Amino acid sequence: MDYNKLAQMLFPDVEHTPEYYEEKFPYRKLPAKAQVTRMAPSPTGFIHLGNLYSALADERIAHRHGGVFYLRIEDTDEKRKVDGAVELIIDTLRYFDIEFDEGAGFPDDAPQNIYGPYFQRQRVEIYHAYAKNLVERGLAYPCFCTEEELEAVRQKQEADKALTGYYGEYAVCRNLSLDEIEKNLADGKPYVLRLRSQGSPDREIIFKDSIKGEVKLPENIHDIVLLKRDGIPTYHFAHAIDDHLMRTTVVVRGGEWLASAPVHYELFHVLGFKMPEYAHTAHLMKFDEETGGKRKLSKRKDPELSLDYYRQDGYHPYCMKVYLMTLLNSNFEEWHEQFPDKDINEFPFSIDKMSQSGALFDKDKLHNICKNELSKLSEEELFDFLYTWADENALEKKDIWFADREKLLDILRLYMGVGMKRRRKDFMYAKQVFEMISYFFDDEDSSQEKDAFRLDGSEVREILSDYLSEYDHSDDNSAWFNKLKAIADRHGYASDMKAYKAAPDNYKGNVSDVAEVVRIAVTGRANTPDLWSIVHIMGEEQMRQRIESAMSQN
Ligand code: GLU
Repeated sequence: MDYNKLAQMLFPDVEHTPEYYEEKFPYRKLPAKAQVTRMAPSPTGFIHLGNLYSALADERIAHRHGGVFYLRIEDTDEKRKVDGAVELIIDTLRYFDIEFDEGAGFPDDAPQNIYGPYFQRQRVEIYHAYAKNLVERGLAYPCFCTEEELEAVRQKQEADKALTGYYGEYAVCRNLSLDEIEKNLADGKPYVLRLRSQGSPDREIIFKDSIKGEVKLPENIHDIVLLKRDGIPTYHFAHAIDDHLMRTTVVVRGGEWLASAPVHYELFHVLGFKMPEYAHTAHLMKFDEETGGKRKLSKRKDPELSLDYYRQDGYHPYCMKVYLMTLLNSNFEEWHEQFPDKDINEFPFSIDKMSQSGALFDKDKLHNICKNELSKLSEEELFDFLYTWADENALEKKDIWFADREKLLDILRLYMGVGMKRRRKDFMYAKQVFEMISYFFDDEDSSQEKDAFRLDGSEVREILSDYLSEYDHSDDNSAWFNKLKAIADRHGYASDMKAYKAAPDNYKGNVSDVAEVVRIAVTGRANTPDLWSIVHIMGEEQMRQRIESAMSQN
């Protein structure tokens, strides 16, 4: 077979050779240890927590030693493409504090964008140059099989109990003569370009995956498709060429690609490329209450897989980052506790500490991290974050919440415990913050659910009535509390905790039960920070209205 002739027949218009591209895209000059990583999404318009998880790993691996993290768009599947998907990816990752150094999203003539184009559909001539070269070397051939013919092969294999796929004796187009090919081409028959696999079923490939460790898999024997009928490459072919020419050093990608590693191993080999380091990530799993076991997070069942979910509810991006770091590297949490003031980017991130089996997504853990991290902010920082969130989500009540900056700051200070020995840790995410403090802003007919009084209605009314008649807004905290104690005594509740503990049966309860009545009447909640402070942020008028309304409803 004259392979050169075949190559010329199939690719008459290819202008350049692989050598041309090798020279055009030289190895990157980088500091020692620096790694080049990439995110290579298909532009489907959905970006999820798993993407953020790997993107953060990519970003840390690259930036830890001054490497490069770039964005390549794998848009070979026209059907799945969604407008605006690239902007969405960049914008979402930026929101979560992850920036690319290069690639899609930067102008073509940006000085760092010298390994482009970064959209696969714009790289077709590059793929064709390498495809032509493989044909010249007898390592790729056109396959004219129709869907029906492929289906017939599959059925025969099933009947023979043979491995399904296009390989060996089943690969009928493997041995077409040049004349047959020429005739098919002249007849305008569509074809795909296939690899002429050199693999053998009784050999294995062995490589070291940075997460999974040593991986042994049977060699690829399939004559896999390199170029589809429209000349667009498959993921496999594009992956090998792009990651080689863009000089990626570490490929972090979903574990579902591990099974294809033998194909990639063979492709890198026949193309004469050095293999990058692979890191196949574990799936994000969650605890499934129905089965009591672990399962993969699913787009359909789990709204928390979507990154929009966290943005809409106002999870602070920094908290998300800290949480994902704890999932990514098991030793991060300890480090962060030991050096709470250090920039988390200083953490010595390492791929081999990444979880091998499914990383377990745990919302309670995320919430604990949120509580901790938000409590470290200043009230102004939290204010600004809340404001941006309310603004970005065009929240209806924004004008009411932010009408009085000092009032909101006072509320935040109180709830965060600013100035106290220990910070309070009540806040988790923006939406929850406003649910917690909404009573400061709601009008009477608010639909917010209120905690129920534990005492009966007449008792509640009497206590509240007493409270109102004695109330003096100029009382300081202790004078105010002394009045509550006096009310407690009058109603048969112990004002002295020691006395109460010594003989609880002598009382209906103690002063904290009385305080709770007032607290629920004023705030609708049984648990709040210091009530006197709340009343003084709220003002006397609103407090009186609240109490009167509670009296009339009980
Ligand atoms: N486009 C592939 C995907 O979205 C990329 C896999 C990879 O990172 O190589 O799954």
